[in-house]
Amino acid sequence: MDKPPHDSPYVHSRVLKINAGFLLGSGLGTTNDSRFDFPALIVSDDLILEHLHGPLRMSRTTEGILVQAQLEAGVVDECYRCLDRVTKPVTIQIEELFTFDTTRTSEFSVLEDGVLDLAPLLRAEILIENARGFLCRPDCKGLCPTCGTNWNYNTCTCADEAVDPRLASLRKFLE
Ligand SMILES: [Zn+2]
Ligand SMILES: [Zn+2]
Repeated sequence: MDKPPHDSPYVHSRVLKINAGFLLGSGLGTTNDSRFDFPALIVSDDLILEHLHGPLRMSRTTEGILVQAQLEAGVVDECYRCLDRVTKPVTIQIEELFTFDTTRTSEFSVLEDGVLDLAPLLRAEILIENARGFLCRPDCKGLCPTCGTNWNYNTCTCADEAVDPRLASLRKFLE
């Protein structure tokens, strides 16, 4: 995948570490509403977003902090047929409890000082949702398996030769 240029507006995944410390001392059921508005974001080595927007709610419960969010993201990936760079809009529905008890088998927990790291959660949600991969367009023609030509932009003669092996051997002979 193409990495974004260094002078890009991409921000680091550390912005997804949210301080929920102020909720720890508050009563059960206390909620806090905020929103994500990032123009471009690097979530992890294998996940880059062109944008991430949407409301986020954190609620204090007996067991931890419940995070609920409805996010719109533009996932940057490569087309699985032709490997061109594509940005796919996805909607992510999050409802996850970050527990206080780190000894439990819960996947997500409240870190020291009441910090919640949403990057692993976001990554899991997006990669599960899009495990089948992206196409640059529904009718992407893909790459020639023989010479690597991108059939969306160019043609090659490999397919013709494959149809008639005698012609291929003749061509080899002539070379
Ligand atoms: Zn494609
Ligand atoms: Zn070819």
